[in-house]
Amino acid sequence: MTKKRILAGGIAQESHSFNPVLTDRARFNIQSGQAAIASARGTNSLLGGILDTAEQADIEVLVPTLFRAQSGGPVEDVVFAEMRDILCDAAKRGDFDAIVLPLHGGMLTPTLEDPEGELMALLRAIVGPGLPMTVAFDLHAHVTPRILKTCDFLAGYLTNPHGDQGSTGRRACRAALDILGGQLRPVLSAVHVPMLTLGHDRTDEEPLMGLQARARAAVESGLAYDVSIFNAQQFLDVHGLGNWVLAYGNGSDGGRDRLALELAQSLWDQRHALIGTYPSLDECLDRAERGTKRPLILGDQGDRVAGGGPGDSTYVLRALLDRPGLPAAVVPLTDPASVAACHAAGNGSQVTLDVGGCYSTMAPPTTITGKVIGLGTEAHVTYDGPADAGYKAKLGAYAVVEVGKVRVLLTDQPYSYLDPDYFRAMGIDPAKMGVVITRSGYHFTLNFAATGECITVDTPGMTSYQVHELPFTVARPFFPLDEPDFVPVLAEHPSRMV
Ligand SMILES: [Zn+2]
Repeated sequence: MTKKRILAGGIAQESHSFNPVLTDRARFNIQSGQAAIASARGTNSLLGGILDTAEQADIEVLVPTLFRAQSGGPVEDVVFAEMRDILCDAAKRGDFDAIVLPLHGGMLTPTLEDPEGELMALLRAIVGPGLPMTVAFDLHAHVTPRILKTCDFLAGYLTNPHGDQGSTGRRACRAALDILGGQLRPVLSAVHVPMLTLGHDRTDEEPLMGLQARARAAVESGLAYDVSIFNAQQFLDVHGLGNWVLAYGNGSDGGRDRLALELAQSLWDQRHALIGTYPSLDECLDRAERGTKRPLILGDQGDRVAGGGPGDSTYVLRALLDRPGLPAAVVPLTDPASVAACHAAGNGSQVTLDVGGCYSTMAPPTTITGKVIGLGTEAHVTYDGPADAGYKAKLGAYAVVEVGKVRVLLTDQPYSYLDPDYFRAMGIDPAKMGVVITRSGYHFTLNFAATGECITVDTPGMTSYQVHELPFTVARPFFPLDEPDFVPVLAEHPSRMV
């Protein structure tokens, strides 16, 4: 008997509708074939999980291409088209038994609100209705009816901050193998909830902890084959923005419809509790001035690259410079022009630069004078984890400027700083700093837990949860900008009509 094969690949990026900086090809880590497989094997990533499950079942995985980038503005259409064509060409060549796609689900291009759904529909048209196609998404995906209708099964992360990338890949791959083996006939109960979660939406805290526990109990008891609760990325001005509850069963209903409806109603009932508040920057810097046992690792909530922000807000930098009593601090800023100026000046030079504030209009450029103490044209990061442990990324050009006790880390691309190795790769040991600024609201808290005390700080900007400050038009109505009438209703789905 010939060995079975799975086609796996695609694109993963989370977009922000109001970030004017399009995400170009240079921001992507693009891998294919054996190189993609070798770098994902054994890592806590979607593809790592897919490989794990497939290889245990002695199934070969084909990876025509996998594009991965950090969050940011919409992805250039030409980049999406390149990935799409490679995947579609591979699908046309055939010679595989199922498709398992490791995607994000919250991406945009300038012309597409639902590029993942577009990719899946094209693949479905090529392979026909009979070939199993399963998908793995981030918990912050923008799920659409087209996505649900096109794939046989969709799994989302169950944790925020995200620590279950590998097991989500395994769920998606396992479902494909179960369908192939005739043990699974997925039937979906799906409910859309027109709301956003905003800042109080960790899954290791209530109210989401309880909801996720109910979902897990339903799977463990056999009531459902799999349940995902998607809390959409908050900065997507797209039709149908909102949360989704998905409960897949095997063949018949058996109470799963009621489960999906009840979870959706609970999510809606707790919508006010899912809006959080954070400590102010002043409170945190006061503490740092008084002295803390461990470094304070502060997430700049208003300009999170992890939430699609540009990473060039100077709000925190200015506060650090105003407080000479602070311990050593590092703050990253996206600023390609300043990186180039530092490279031209050379290591050890004194420089005066207007840094940041190019896109973060709530925090204008700030003039700094200091010494260039680090320069590089590329740097290599390997995540400590636990989130995405072992994931390798290549960074572009950077410069470090020392201004008093503040190290300003300038980069030509935006990064989220989800893992301490970003700083180490550019010559700064975060464990030796008193204050470390990251451009993430949640995810850094997993990988920095061993380095210091992690706090998300209430700062203004494009990724602040003050969504009323953003010009949403297409996505409305949704809570909390609106108070739509909500009664949970099961979405129509082809699996329900057989
Ligand atoms: Zn996410």
